[in-house]
Amino acid sequence: MNIAFLGLGNMGSHMARNLADAGYHMTCFDIVEAATQAAAEHGMTVASSASEAVKGADVVITMFPAGKHVLDAYRNDLLANADAGTLFIDSSTIAVDDAVEAANLAEEAGHLALDAPVSGGTTGAENGTLTFMVGGSQESFDKAKPLFEIMGRQIVHTGASGTGQAAKVVNNMALAINTIGTAEAFSLGENLGLSHQTLYDVMSSSAAQSWSVTTNCPVPGPVPTSPSSNDYRPGFATGLMAKDLGLAKAAIESTNTPADFGLAAYHAYTEFNSETNSGKDFSAIIATKQKG
Ligand code: NAD
Repeated sequence: MNIAFLGLGNMGSHMARNLADAGYHMTCFDIVEAATQAAAEHGMTVASSASEAVKGADVVITMFPAGKHVLDAYRNDLLANADAGTLFIDSSTIAVDDAVEAANLAEEAGHLALDAPVSGGTTGAENGTLTFMVGGSQESFDKAKPLFEIMGRQIVHTGASGTGQAAKVVNNMALAINTIGTAEAFSLGENLGLSHQTLYDVMSSSAAQSWSVTTNCPVPGPVPTSPSSNDYRPGFATGLMAKDLGLAKAAIESTNTPADFGLAAYHAYTEFNSETNSGKDFSAIIATKQKG
């Protein structure tokens, strides 16, 4: 099976490498030369352009920053240059509406399409332990599943086109709300005289227990491997969370869902996402909850 992989950034570079290590023939492309050079050094074929990369491919995987990159590439370079019946998998995190549009464009051009965003960060990408949320037909899902199983550990077929992105956006909205709630709890606890460790000992085994407490605890100390215990090095960067909450806001508005806390999380992260903070782990938002 020939795989074209486009977008060799923080995530895509590892995902492509895992597929290459599993023995697939990979043709790669990125607009950044250093990214393609690293892929070439790992034995992958590098194409001279996006349209060149998809020629003769059975599967095309894209891992781009945002929806406009996906739609532009599908329209201008990829769909018309691929053989009929090629399976297009977009693993970028993009708006639900953009994912549906991308799938429609691919299908109108005679191809198969899946939206397959991931969770698990760069560590998950490197270790092949990502979670894939996959929207599209059963036929496309069955064809792609062996590839997802190389790049990930948990693979969920969420339903029709766009539902993979829906699952991703909903999950990250809940995560942001949870993280802000946990940050406020540690801050209020401190102001009431509770040490971080004491509160951690209670919350990690009580009803408020969550990933935001036990894995990504927003205060340094109780969880040595958490970003907070390592100068808030991500993890999952604030800039990416702010981007995903922008997608959540668009989905809340387009569906008229009463989701005040989701919107509040969007505003909190948009404000916090300054030049200084965008590269910090998103649990660093606790700084806005502390006095002075
Ligand atoms: P990134 O910016 O590091 O990588 C994107 C790559 O796409 C870049 O190398 C860029 O040069 C390339 N690119 C852009 N337009 C292109 C084009 N037309 N042709 C070829 N290459 C092109 O981003 P990332 O961190 O790898 O994230 C990729 C996607 O995955 C994003 O949508 C992000 O929201 C999502 N995501 C990221 C993480 C994470 O922890 N980084 C976790 C889950 C999901």
